[in-house]
Amino acid sequence: MKFGTKALHAGIEPDPATGAIMTPVYQTSTYVQEESGVHKGYEYARTQNPTRSVLEKNLSALENARFGRCFASGMSAIETVIKMLNTGDEVVSTADLYGGSYRLFTQVFEKYGIKFSFVDMQDASNVASAMSDKTKLVWIETPTNPMLNIVDIESVAEIAHRYGAKVVVDNTFSSPYLQNPLDIGADIVMHSVTKYIAGHSDVIMGFLATNDEALDHQFGFIQNSSGAVPGPQDCFLALRGIKTLHLRMQRHCENGEQIAHYLKNHPNVSKVYWPGFEDHPNHEIAKKQMRAFGGMLSFIQSEDTLKKAEKTLRSFKLFSLAESLGAVESLVGHPAGMTHASIPKVKRIAGGLTDSLIRLSVGIEDVEDLIADLEQAIA
Ligand SMILES: *Cc1c(COP(=O)(O)O)cnc(C)c1O
Repeated sequence: MKFGTKALHAGIEPDPATGAIMTPVYQTSTYVQEESGVHKGYEYARTQNPTRSVLEKNLSALENARFGRCFASGMSAIETVIKMLNTGDEVVSTADLYGGSYRLFTQVFEKYGIKFSFVDMQDASNVASAMSDKTKLVWIETPTNPMLNIVDIESVAEIAHRYGAKVVVDNTFSSPYLQNPLDIGADIVMHSVTKYIAGHSDVIMGFLATNDEALDHQFGFIQNSSGAVPGPQDCFLALRGIKTLHLRMQRHCENGEQIAHYLKNHPNVSKVYWPGFEDHPNHEIAKKQMRAFGGMLSFIQSEDTLKKAEKTLRSFKLFSLAESLGAVESLVGHPAGMTHASIPKVKRIAGGLTDSLIRLSVGIEDVEDLIADLEQAIA
């Protein structure tokens, strides 16, 4: 089955009790047993829920994974992966990482004696230099946020596996529509379902998938022990969102491409970061591992000051100033003042993230209207 057909049908059957075509919201905490230990596969809703199971089967199919589990948030999915580790273990991670992941790694898990190093993975040889016999995980994010750098998943995975480390890809920015990391060497794929997958700014949820049964068992054990499960209503909303994931992604990509070119030709814009440009430093890898280039992009104005950025941000009428990304409506973010404010300025600017850098999550509106909004905001 191809992607769009899987989005609508994989793991989804009419409800066995009623024939309902939409997966019911099983809003229940427990399940009645016939006799002690005799049940229909469901005991307690922290452990299993039928609405969640359908979503997990469906999402696993989209990532070409044998196993998948949904979590209460993207962060709780990430936390579950790190909780497999022991004191003394090391993790090598992408440098310009999602801020929440960086905070979880350095402010929550480092105090348990897990060591994290952050390397520029655009050059896979930097990964090799950071590996040691204690490295248990290599954490990849690609494209990166907000610089839209691309990491070559296959090359990094090859290096990680030489050291016996498992490879995780945070695939949130791409969604399963644009890239499937398990097909090119990753051991675990992670999503913030909150973003493109659910897609409508109404759900917080995470997902982990793998083809390795032992890893999946550990995820299940940690999830059931710790309890970070999504509610059935949210699972229903995510399933509903996924039915149009392929259509939304096509439109996100088309709009993203047009806006990237519009900005590149704008006299007041000095730099646009988008992996679809032929002169993007990692364009060839993006072309190799992604189906298209997505709707996320960042740009810097010729007047590269905080003041100018703030003025532009105030002027948007259609793009909403907000954290998050990947939803149907267009959002604009200011990393230096919002998501990346906690990163020291010198470090930020060394990575290209200047004060005026603006990040766009291009939605699925009519692109002419989005361009008109950009035109008046930048003027
Ligand atoms: C949003 C996000 C997360 C965290 O997910 P939540 O659902 O907000 O907990 C992790 N990684 C990336 C790349 C994200 O964009």
